[in-house]
Amino acid sequence: MSTETEKNDKSYNFMINGWRIIAFVSFLIFPSFLSLCAGSQPSEAVIEAKKTMERADPFMGDWQGGWELDNQADSGSLVSQVIALGKGQYRAVLSNEFDTRREPIALLNGRRDGESVKFEGKTFLSDQGLELEIQAVIKEDEFSGKFKGDEFGSFGMSKVIRLSPKLGARPPEGAVVLFNGKNFNEWKHPNKKEGEDKVKWELVDGAMRVKPGTGSIITKKQFGDVKLHIEFRTPFMPDKRSQGRGNSGVYLQGRYEVQILDSYGLEGLDNECGGIYKVDRPQVNMCAPPTQWQNYDITFRAPRFDSAGKIISNPTLTVFHNGVKVHNKTEARGPTTASLGGKVSEPGPIYLQDHGNPVEFRNIWLVEL
Ligand code: MG
Repeated sequence: MSTETEKNDKSYNFMINGWRIIAFVSFLIFPSFLSLCAGSQPSEAVIEAKKTMERADPFMGDWQGGWELDNQADSGSLVSQVIALGKGQYRAVLSNEFDTRREPIALLNGRRDGESVKFEGKTFLSDQGLELEIQAVIKEDEFSGKFKGDEFGSFGMSKVIRLSPKLGARPPEGAVVLFNGKNFNEWKHPNKKEGEDKVKWELVDGAMRVKPGTGSIITKKQFGDVKLHIEFRTPFMPDKRSQGRGNSGVYLQGRYEVQILDSYGLEGLDNECGGIYKVDRPQVNMCAPPTQWQNYDITFRAPRFDSAGKIISNPTLTVFHNGVKVHNKTEARGPTTASLGGKVSEPGPIYLQDHGNPVEFRNIWLVEL
């Protein structure tokens, strides 16, 4: 884990130098930054994701641009993740770059004001010893603001949609297709008699959606070592917080949960999205905003036993969240909370959790290893 973190820090430094130039240029020609960033023709998937997100909330999501001092002596990159908190309240998390474990530059509280959201906040940048007061507004697709205090300057950002490069990945030859958008043939509810185990979740536009209260589902087949591809999206639940916000989960062998949660813009803990539940946190928080499709690619190695049945090695999980490695052979010393149980030496199903929230899934397949 430390190796990966160091690697992230190195790429961070590299990014800063690279972005300073791009950000400065973008600052001068600010309105066209989105098209510069995403290429002149955003893909259909990007357009669709943006529309869906803005239908839920026009302000939440990723913003990207730059800052500059009023005296033009310095400038740099700036990004923000805007979280909708319900009742016209927002939080903006400002950083130098996305997908980092570094402390945010600032947290701003926002309040809706007609067709705009006004933000304010104070921050202390300890590495530079700077105290700043920030005021900002999102209006007409621009997130702009000013800072004052130990330095004076301004910033501007445009909305960006960052989709996982792994969305729509096709199952390779020999893969077991668990869900192709059409039916629940491979699934059932656990602890139900045959004939009474018909899946009560909903099929919606090529996806399956948790119908809260109907119970979790498991695959009819049992598996050992697998490489699993699964796509999911969390619902827009702005009034909810922490474990009540877009909660579900995918369990390997019915025992080891990779958490699903709307923890967009949060710290990235072991009980949040990308966490192996209460075992280890993701190396970075890759959680996408609610309503946006995202995915896991999980390589699971089952526990190993000697001939006397004594455990030789714990199960391990390598997890890519939206194409970024967030766990590297993380060991689980035992089944995680709310596991199906059963003998850990035996294979188990893939298990998708009904945690009371209408999370959606699509394009689920695995390769047995
Ligand atoms: Mg869960």
